[in-house]
Amino acid sequence: MPRILEPGQIESLAQGAIPRVRLPQHAGPFRARAERLRQLAAPGAIGHAIGDYLKLMAVVVEAQAAAAATVDPRLPDATELGRARTHRMPPIEARGWAREPLWRVLGAELAERVAGAADIPDQARHELTQVRSLPPEWLEGQADALLSGRREDIEMAVAPFVMASLQTYWVALASRLTEEVVPPLEVPGLCPACGSLPVASVVRVDRRSQGHRYLHCGLCATEWHLVRVTCSHCQNTEGIAYHSIEGGPDAIRAESCEHCHIYRKILYQEQDAGVEPVADDLASLPLDLLMGEAGYQRGSGNPLLWQ
Ligand SMILES: [Zn+2]
Ligand SMILES: [Zn+2]
Repeated sequence: MPRILEPGQIESLAQGAIPRVRLPQHAGPFRARAERLRQLAAPGAIGHAIGDYLKLMAVVVEAQAAAAATVDPRLPDATELGRARTHRMPPIEARGWAREPLWRVLGAELAERVAGAADIPDQARHELTQVRSLPPEWLEGQADALLSGRREDIEMAVAPFVMASLQTYWVALASRLTEEVVPPLEVPGLCPACGSLPVASVVRVDRRSQGHRYLHCGLCATEWHLVRVTCSHCQNTEGIAYHSIEGGPDAIRAESCEHCHIYRKILYQEQDAGVEPVADDLASLPLDLLMGEAGYQRGSGNPLLWQ
């Protein structure tokens, strides 16, 4: 098995000199994600084997970008922000936030946009028509199950659609926050804005974040800093290894931990400026197979993949 060990780089971080949190900019994460999904589905790219699925997801994510651009959600008030700061809690916590019915309106809009797209399979079009007639109470129950990770209560056929609706709502919320109202959490492995798990991490190269690694939230697309060569699940710093597919792209590896046997993927913008955590994680399923065979478990699922 290809296994590349990086030397234990000690990052002498001047804390505060780099952004601790990178909040999403409007519909920006969805636009970048859709573009990347299409790139990764192309002949010769890592995701070509599941290219049709990636292209369908690109249509969904493009609809998310369009819907997110128009929405105006209720933001936490001063009392709610103060409470989050005092208790070091996420200000728009996925499990606790009183989400507005607006997320279902966004869902209906998504279903309509995707069903109206020219390049989707008939089966998907049929399922979307059915989704639009589901009762609100049932959808709310599915949202609760998804956001609190109760897998046994999740209806898999509808989960990608419900998740896409919730993502659209939460990205709209997170994009309206400022860094100052997002306190550092006691648990560094959770999103400081919404408390969800990261999908993957990315080493950024832009001027502000040069060479630093950020975890990317699977729900609200907020990114937060985590020192490199550190397990994103248990924060252990020893026994961290990097795995890649022989002959595969240099821009993506799996970061594993010998302490908890969990891995998450890590993307390198210095190798490929276009990497996007959700899209690249989804397209690199062969790396997941490799890691499964080696006895490691994924730290969390991909919001666009449900089986
Ligand atoms: Zn989040
Ligand atoms: Zn670990």
